[in-house]
Amino acid sequence: MNTLNKRSYKLKSPKLKFICPLCTSNREMKYQKCLSALNYVQIVLLTLVTTYFAFSAIGAKAILSFFMYWMVFEMVNKFLYRRELPCPHCGFDATWYKRDVKIAKKKVEEFWEKQAVTKPVMTNPSSSSENLSQPSQTTA
Ligand SMILES: [Zn+2]
Repeated sequence: MNTLNKRSYKLKSPKLKFICPLCTSNREMKYQKCLSALNYVQIVLLTLVTTYFAFSAIGAKAILSFFMYWMVFEMVNKFLYRRELPCPHCGFDATWYKRDVKIAKKKVEEFWEKQAVTKPVMTNPSSSSENLSQPSQTTA
């Protein structure tokens, strides 16, 4: 595991810092699982602008655009969060690990096949399965 590049991409103001449970590299996340207070302010401002321009056409129903913007913000945030979550150094995805360990292990193997790098843990397959099967290492 010492051959891995442990440097992480430095973010300006990371929302979350943690250590990858599989390769122990430092990780930083730009997106949160839930929307931030700033996102809700943006949603309210968009709703106010929409209501201002659409009020003459559809009346007070324009306020309901809040829920449309909220849904779009949630979907985009979830997409960006899920895209950022897998470790760029080893391919470990904590959400897949929580749902199904076998799929998480398969995704790590696919990552290494895609990287076309000889997997360091391949020389000792028992250590790789130990890393993935110990639930105590998953708290990220
Ligand atoms: Zn990792």
